[in-house]
Formats: sequence, structure tokens, C-alpha cells
Amino acid sequence: MLSLSVFEQSWQQALAERRASALLRQHKTISTPQGVEICVDGQVLLAFCSNDYLGLANHPQLVAAAQQATAEFGTGSGASHLVCGHSSEHHALEEELAAFTGRDRALVFSSGYMANLGTINALVGKGDAVFEDKLNHASLLDGGLMSGARFQRFLHNDLTSLESKLVSTNAARKLVVVDSVFSMDGDTAPLPELAQLAAKHGAWLMADDAHGFGCLGATGAGSAEHFGLAQAELPILMGTLGKAAGSYGAFIAGSHELIETLIQQARPYIYTTAIPPAVAASSRAALRVMQREAWRRDHLNTLIAYFRKGAEQLGLQLMPSVTAIQPVVIGSAAVTMEVAERLRTQGF
Ligand SMILES: *Cc1c(COP(=O)(O)O)cnc(C)c1O
Repeated sequence: MLSLSVFEQSWQQALAERRASALLRQHKTISTPQGVEICVDGQVLLAFCSNDYLGLANHPQLVAAAQQATAEFGTGSGASHLVCGHSSEHHALEEELAAFTGRDRALVFSSGYMANLGTINALVGKGDAVFEDKLNHASLLDGGLMSGARFQRFLHNDLTSLESKLVSTNAARKLVVVDSVFSMDGDTAPLPELAQLAAKHGAWLMADDAHGFGCLGATGAGSAEHFGLAQAELPILMGTLGKAAGSYGAFIAGSHELIETLIQQARPYIYTTAIPPAVAASSRAALRVMQREAWRRDHLNTLIAYFRKGAEQLGLQLMPSVTAIQPVVIGSAAVTMEVAERLRTQGF
């Protein structure tokens, strides 16, 4: 065996420590499309961990839309949006997203991670303050940390904790940021109350609806629709297209002024290649299926209720979540990994 360099030795040691703490992250290789059953490292398993909540990631209409757009536009978008990568498919997707979410405009980003980083950094900086729920997604936390604004975390879903921080800031601009459906715990943020609190303190409210878009609301438009929050109350709405929409990418929806500001300032929007037109086309097909086939949301809710009932009968400890994210609290990382491994051997 070749001897390791000093760098490699230090990496190897850190990796060994992660492994010993049962925290080593590892790929699993999937050889089938997403679905109820997927083939993982050669073994067929019942899938409990994808975000393809509505079963759209392999839907024939999404596949056909991508194939047709590939035939028409080719594979790559060729450039960033502001150079010459913004195709008519991207444009139509933005108009349809704005109409669907009841906002003036929408802007498509290449991923949710980039949408969050780009938006927070475009809106606040030095001299401003950003307030984030403790359990926010990593992309929101990273965006807040990067922005140069004073970064403050409040207790999870705790309006009193948030208000105590809002009253004691003298920042020029204040941005409150939450997951509308928390990505680990599955519970929802009290968006109407947050909107009132933000308005009272002259702060802007941003909600990341990665897990609500497609699933919540009468037509699947997400948390804003579910809570009946108009653009004035929830001015910065983010959603992703890689989860319930079964495609890829993300968007910010809001006022004309918000979108124009992002086009000027959001670096992860400006300095990256646009998603392929075919991906935008499959997102457009997803919006049509989502709106037309409400039964997919009913079915999801039936399955959530079925899972909760069965888990409770088994005496498993669940969290108060009505969404597709259903955490079962086990405890230590080592025991959790052991449970996952045993489930895998049993076909889950
Ligand atoms: C998945 C997720 C993102 C990131 O979206 P991508 O499109 O996968 O980059 C952002 N926020 C939350 C809450 C998420 O769950």
C-alpha cells in the first residue's frame, strides 16, 4: 500500500473518528426510478425516505415533457440566466409558478440551497439582522451566517423568543426566516402569527416551503395557500421543485420589486448555469399534474394517518407532525444506525 501523505493521514483520522461516532455519511446507489419500491445497492426495498411525496419523479407526463423539451432544446442550457441560458421553458415555468402561488412574480433558481443562500444574501448584509428558527434547514442557516447581518437564532416555533430578539435590535433591516415545514421534525411553523409579529416589528418574513409545496393547501400551492397568506403578509416565499414536484430546481415567489432585487443581487442566481430547459419542462408538467390530481394529496394524507396509527400501535414515539415527515425518536446515532440496518435487512 502506498504511504499516506500528512494531509491524507489527518483526513483519515477525522474520518475514523466520524465512523467511530456512527456519523460517517455514505452513499447508497439506487438503480431504479423513485417509487414505492426502489433497488438500493442491489436490494429491492420499500422506500420510506424519498421526498417524492406525490409520486411524480417517474410520472409519464413529466418524463414525456422532459423528452420533448430535450428534443427541442437539447440537453444543456448553455449559460447562466442573465447571459443566454434563460429559455422559454424557464420563462413559462416562472409565470406558472407565480400564478399558482398567487404572487406577482417568481424566479427559478438551480436548487433550493442556492435559492436560500442567494435570497438571504441579496436582502440583508452588514448592519442588518436576520432571525432564524433553531431548527431551520442548513441552507437557511448557511445563508444567514454568510450574509454578514447579525445572525440570531430563536427557540423552535417560539414567538416569545423571537419577539424578545426583535425588540432588542436596532438593525436597519430585519429578516425573519423559517422553514414552513421543518425538514427534520415535520411540524409546521405558525406562519400567520409569525407574519403578524414580523409586521408589528417592521421585519420581512421569508418561508422555505420545500416540504409544503405540492403537499399543503387545497390546490397544492403549499403553506401560503394552507394558511391563506397573501404576498403582503408573507412577502418572500421559497419552494423547491425536486421534492413533491418530482423534478429539480427551486423558486422564490413575491413582488416585482423582490424578484428584480434578486436578479441584481443574488449571486447564486447570477453566477450559475441555468437548469436544463427539459428540467423546467418537467416542472411545468408537474404543476399541471399537481393541480389536476388532488387525489395524490388525499392519498398522501391517508398514508400518513396509516403510518401514525400503526407506529402508535407498536408503541413507537412519534412527534406532533401532520406532514409526510414523520420522525421516530430513537436516541443515539449508533442505535439509530443499527435500527436502520435491521430495517434494511427486512426490506425497508
Ligand atoms: C431540500 C431542502 C432545501 C434544499 O433544496 P434543494 O433543491 O434540494 O437544494 C432547502 N430547504 C429545505 C427545508 C429543504 O428540505
